[in-house]
This record gives sequence, C-alpha cells and structure tokens, in this order.
Amino acid sequence: MRILVSNDDGYFAPGIAALAEALREVGDVTVVAPERDRSGASNSLTLDRPLSLRRAANGFYFVNGTPTDCVHLAVTGMLDHQPDMVVSGVNHGANMGDDTIYSGTVAAATEGYLLGVPSIAVSLVSKAATDFSAAARVARDLAERFLRNPFPQPVLLNVNVPDRAYDDLRGQRITRLGKRHKAEPVIRSTTPRGETVYWVGAAGGAADAGEGTDFHAVAEGYVSITPLQIDLTHTGQISTVAEWIGQ
Ligand code: MN
Repeated sequence: MRILVSNDDGYFAPGIAALAEALREVGDVTVVAPERDRSGASNSLTLDRPLSLRRAANGFYFVNGTPTDCVHLAVTGMLDHQPDMVVSGVNHGANMGDDTIYSGTVAAATEGYLLGVPSIAVSLVSKAATDFSAAARVARDLAERFLRNPFPQPVLLNVNVPDRAYDDLRGQRITRLGKRHKAEPVIRSTTPRGETVYWVGAAGGAADAGEGTDFHAVAEGYVSITPLQIDLTHTGQISTVAEWIGQ
C-alpha cells in the first residue's frame, strides 16, 4: 500500500514524524508537507506563483505552499503513482466542529478525497502535547483496516485522538461534528513602530458538545471518527429560498 502523508504544521513537526514512522509499518510512505506552519490555511491553493519541491535530509519533501498545494502537487504530478491513501497529521491540536472549515490538516485530507483517494485527517486533542505516538498508532490501525478491508465508497475521515497513552484510550466512536461558540474577539496590539495590529483570537468553546458529537467522544476518552462530505448545499433551505425569491 502506498501512503501519502501531509500536514499543516510543517514538514519538521514532531506529529508528522510520528505519523510517517507508524505508517511505514503498513506501507510505502511518501511525505510531502508545507515548509512552514500553515495551520488555518483551509483549502487554499497557491495560484499566483510557482511551487518549489525540496527534499530534506530525512527524505521528507517540503513545498513553499499550503497543505492543499502539497497533496495536489503530489497526486497530480510529482508521484509516479496514485497513492492508495492520504493521511494528514498528526496535528498539534484538535480539529473538531467548526475547526474543520479552517483546518489545513483537514484540507490536506480533503484534497486527497477530492482527487479520488481515501483520506484521513488525524489530530491530537491537546495544545501542550509532546507525545504523538498514540495518535500515530490510531492512524496506523485505520490504515491497516483499509488494507485488509478497503472501504466501498470514497471516504474522508476526520479523526481526533484524546491526549493519553494508547492503552488508556477507551475505544473508537463514530461521531458527527459538534459546534463551537463564536470565536473570541481579535486582540489589538501595537508594533514597535506604533502601528496598530490585530491577532486573530482563539476559537470559541464547544456550544454543541452533546452525545454523538466529536467533542463528547473525546471528552469521554474515545477516539472520534467523523465521516465528512464536501457538498455545502443546505438542502433543507432550498424550498424556503425558492419561495423567498418568488418561485
Ligand atoms: Mn496545525
């Protein structure tokens, strides 16, 4: 099995090293990741300049672009084969609920999915974590499952792993995305030259974290697995909007 690995934290991040190491037990791994931290890059493609692909001493490739660029470039031209899976992560921090819209980790997996490759995004639910081995092993378990039992349809899985030892994880739960409260306000600051600048504030806390959500599963010590889709159509509003415009 050929596995393409990417992330949004950058090719030097400990999470991607742990992921690549774990997945090597299942298949041939190629790492193509951004040259710097592109967390929050979402599904952006770089269209205003060319992309450079370079190889680090450890064999990882890095690109001066976004997570989406990395997977797009790898699958549509760099690799001489279509990978059997794309795995993105292990992200340093959760990607649950509304995070998935902004996440570069999820975006890298989404790009694989859009290009027809089964894809998984893996995030570790901790901002202070240093040990990514449990989350990487969870990714390996899922990759092994794919190898033994390929999923019958195109699939995009968003996986969030509680920050605890592998043996202390309580199991896996299939979840839906929860919802967050509105983000914290921007933080105003002044540069040494007297210019006012703004830092984007933190994500809001969980608003819908009820039973069945990703937030709930992780809080209970389970690995959360949410199958995602990309169709943004609000089917429930089609008739209401039609009526509103007089049709
Ligand atoms: Mn990140």
